Amino acid sequence: MTIIECEECGSKLVASNYGIPDGDAYRSVIGNCACGNIKIRWIKATQPAKNKGILTIKYKKSYPVITEISEYEKYKQRKEEENSKKNKKLGFQS
Ligand SMILES: [Zn+2]
Repeated sequence: MTIIECEECGSKLVASNYGIPDGDAYRSVIGNCACGNIKIRWIKATQPAKNKGILTIKYKKSYPVITEISEYEKYKQRKEEENSKKNKKLGFQS
């Protein structure tokens, strides 16, 4: 999972949430952060090509912080969330 974070406004965009847009536009903005510093764009490849196109990240003021979260870290995070829910439940019962 790739997280794209904007240092200007603190928005976090999950790269995998953005897919190939509908339509035939050569270039389209498919996502942006709250302040508009970061834009995720789809650029269509000229067919025939191996890929349909590419995702690019554009920024205005500051460079986006890109973090790769491994499957293990996701698993760990989920476990921690589950545990904290469990603890809350126990708290209600006592
Ligand atoms: Zn921003």
